[in-house]
Amino acid sequence: MRKAYVFRLYPTDPQQVRLAAMLAAHCELYNAALEERREAYRKCGITVKVAAQMAQLTGMRAARPDQAVWSFTSQQQTLRRLDKAFAAFFRRLKAGEKPGYPRFRSVRRFDSVDFRHGDGITFGTKGRSKGHAGLRVQGIGVVKIRQHRPLPENAKLGQITIKREGAGPRARWYVVIPVEAGAVPLPETGREIGIDLGVVHLATLSEPIPAVTDEHGHLANPRHLAASADRLATAQQAYARTRRGSNRRRKAAQRIGALHAKVARQRRDHAHKTARALVTNADLLVMEDLRTVNMIRRPAPRPDGNGGHLPNGAAAKAGLNRSILDAGWGVFTSVLESKAEEAGRVLLLVNPTNTSRTCAQCGHCDAVNRTSQAVFACVACNHTTNADVNAAINILRAGTVRRSA
Ligand SMILES: [Zn+2]
Repeated sequence: MRKAYVFRLYPTDPQQVRLAAMLAAHCELYNAALEERREAYRKCGITVKVAAQMAQLTGMRAARPDQAVWSFTSQQQTLRRLDKAFAAFFRRLKAGEKPGYPRFRSVRRFDSVDFRHGDGITFGTKGRSKGHAGLRVQGIGVVKIRQHRPLPENAKLGQITIKREGAGPRARWYVVIPVEAGAVPLPETGREIGIDLGVVHLATLSEPIPAVTDEHGHLANPRHLAASADRLATAQQAYARTRRGSNRRRKAAQRIGALHAKVARQRRDHAHKTARALVTNADLLVMEDLRTVNMIRRPAPRPDGNGGHLPNGAAAKAGLNRSILDAGWGVFTSVLESKAEEAGRVLLLVNPTNTSRTCAQCGHCDAVNRTSQAVFACVACNHTTNADVNAAINILRAGTVRRSA
């Protein structure tokens, strides 16, 4: 099982400038290699292979001292990354899809460089200040790292990625280290839970778990996420008021980038905390398959009796807030998947069709069962409960049925 360790880097100001120069050099290499492939294909119908491009690296480095300062292997990795983009392009073309041709990348959007450990990059070098681990990078020096947790013992280091988030002086730098690790099974709990993803709450469980959910079984969305969303909306309005190409516009864009990165961090942290609590407290976890959720979940219109419609929450769910919460589902699902695997738990993804309109008590399925966003009232057996809890119980049931099948 592969697990990525992400540590923040604390480069000095000059190191930060060098890191940005390194990304720019790799971006140039990527675009030049793309150009070569495009031209060869357009003019002669030839597909340039990645090996042929790698063979040119030595000559290129001899002619370009500014490129030669950076790690040779990392440049190979950048050529490989382009090769992967082409492979994906041809694969989709072959499958009858209409993929976009691999595109030139702008320096601002080129945010990461891959290395092989021990080749132009070394993790664990003593940093400049005591108590801090360091990351030695060719052409940069030793960069300070805040290593908040140790790597597993005997971890085999292979690929290492340096990544930038955000732009300008607000940029944050990270090192990403994928490590092969074995599962550490947790003790059995005897509990099985269904998880219903929501908009008001991150999710609702089929039963409440003390100290994890509230008394109804709701898992909260992180409170600070809403505050960041508001700040993001304000920043975007400010951006819209600036002139094209102005200094203010550049600064406003940087602020938006930094806020987006902050939202992503908050969401990731929260997803990790929540997922850890869930796998600790249940042996079987069942949730909706997100690929189908987005097609099904659309708020139903509520007629107001005068030919118009009452607000059904669609407006509130639209726009920025909605998109932020939606993105949260994807992060939560993938974090939960990896935590479950790590802990030796079973996580099943089921098709959520009808889970919100079926009565968990008697099985009667009817759209009118759902009287409002929050209340479920069965027209067949009068069972009344929280609509999300009802759905979560149905999701759990779909999972247990599938597991025993
Ligand atoms: Zn019923």
